[in-house]
Amino acid sequence: MVDQIKVIRGMRDLLPADMDAWYQLEDGWRQLAESYGYQQIRTPIMEKTALFKRSIGDVTDIVEKEMYSFDDKGGDNLSLRPEGTASVVRAGIQNGLLVNQQQRLWYSGPMFRRERPQKGRYRQFYQLGAETFGMPGADIEAELIFMVSRFWKQLGLENIELQLNTLGTAETRLKYKDLLVAYFRDHMNELDDDSLRRLDTNPLRILDSKNSKMQNMIEAAPKLKDNLDQQSADHFAQLLEMLDFNGQAYSINPRLVRGLDYYSHTVFEFVTNSLGAQGTVCAGGRYDSLVEQLGGKPTYAAGFAMGIDRLVLMLQDQQKIKAQKQVDIYFVMSGANTAKQGQKLAEMLRNELPGLYLVAHSGGGSFKSQMKKADKSGASLALILGESEVENSTINIKFLRNDSQQLEIDQSELVSQIKTLLIN
Ligand code: ATP
Ligand code: MG
Repeated sequence: MVDQIKVIRGMRDLLPADMDAWYQLEDGWRQLAESYGYQQIRTPIMEKTALFKRSIGDVTDIVEKEMYSFDDKGGDNLSLRPEGTASVVRAGIQNGLLVNQQQRLWYSGPMFRRERPQKGRYRQFYQLGAETFGMPGADIEAELIFMVSRFWKQLGLENIELQLNTLGTAETRLKYKDLLVAYFRDHMNELDDDSLRRLDTNPLRILDSKNSKMQNMIEAAPKLKDNLDQQSADHFAQLLEMLDFNGQAYSINPRLVRGLDYYSHTVFEFVTNSLGAQGTVCAGGRYDSLVEQLGGKPTYAAGFAMGIDRLVLMLQDQQKIKAQKQVDIYFVMSGANTAKQGQKLAEMLRNELPGLYLVAHSGGGSFKSQMKKADKSGASLALILGESEVENSTINIKFLRNDSQQLEIDQSELVSQIKTLLIN
């Protein structure tokens, strides 16, 4: 026997039994996003590595340690995408979607990060997201938040909290950075290695540290909200007013920074405490400088991404998975020469009854083994075609659920019979 080759560590097969939850998320999201006027965009799962370096930033965890990058045979350095925003912005610039226009876009698909695998954290994971372009106000940020909240309601998910913060304008943040670095330098002996490294590269990210020994020191650090310029303060106040006016619950988390340089003004996360450490199920914000950073004209932008894998875990935990439609009919064909006529009748039913879920037996086998399959399929009816039925142009309908009644009819009545039986 040869060795079995197994799936790559941190990557998973999603099996037929998993699909109820995935359809609920993917189909539900598509319907919701389109009902808000968002249009889908699909970009390749690989991009030039430079795109992610320039957008996400050289000194982020993602770019420093988590990307799957390789040299293509042609000499380009390519990476599997670790997130969706950079690609959407690249595609928007390249295809002329962003200049003097407003766009509401959504996407869905696999992302890749070489992280330590654990529950809710995988090396191939899936995101749903939205990106908007050309809208400067807090109104579009409120819309994004309302849309996500509606999604939780639609899914029946509970126990998800919205956290918000503002990072102000780029200038404000620069001044604040200096304050923060000065503060952390006064507390050098309390910083861990990660934070010492970030002190020079990305000091805001220290606020995000989960190290319990640093919590009190971080708590006492200067707060960005006490150092906001007037314009940023007004923008944030407008957003909060819209959220309040709509009864949207939230809490302000001054430590929410999302580390990336391209964010400005609003940042937000939807967080749950029911997934252990992997508690963030959706994260987003405003990123007005990114389009220009990637070579486009200055363009207002705001968006978010959700982690589908974590939402699947929540649907399971909260028992909110809805079963998809079951098979209506299992078609049993037993005996010589029954398959040809059986396939013909099955196709006729499919023609006449669009939306019918019909499984036609294939591969022969005894009547008894076929009936077992019919029962296991979950179908409410079995159609039974044997040699004598083919000869007499008849067919049997067997009720598999409520009673075990059986009905023999002429094949010419099949469509009308099935119509009335399945509607009732
Ligand atoms: P975390 O703090 O959990 O590492 P992040 O800040 O790296 O999250 P984002 O880059 O903001 O995550 O991605 C948006 C969402 O995608 C996250 O909130 C999460 O739900 C999901 N996500 C990110 N990385 C993974 C992963 N490795 N496996 C599963 N889901 C993930
Ligand atoms: Mg991460």
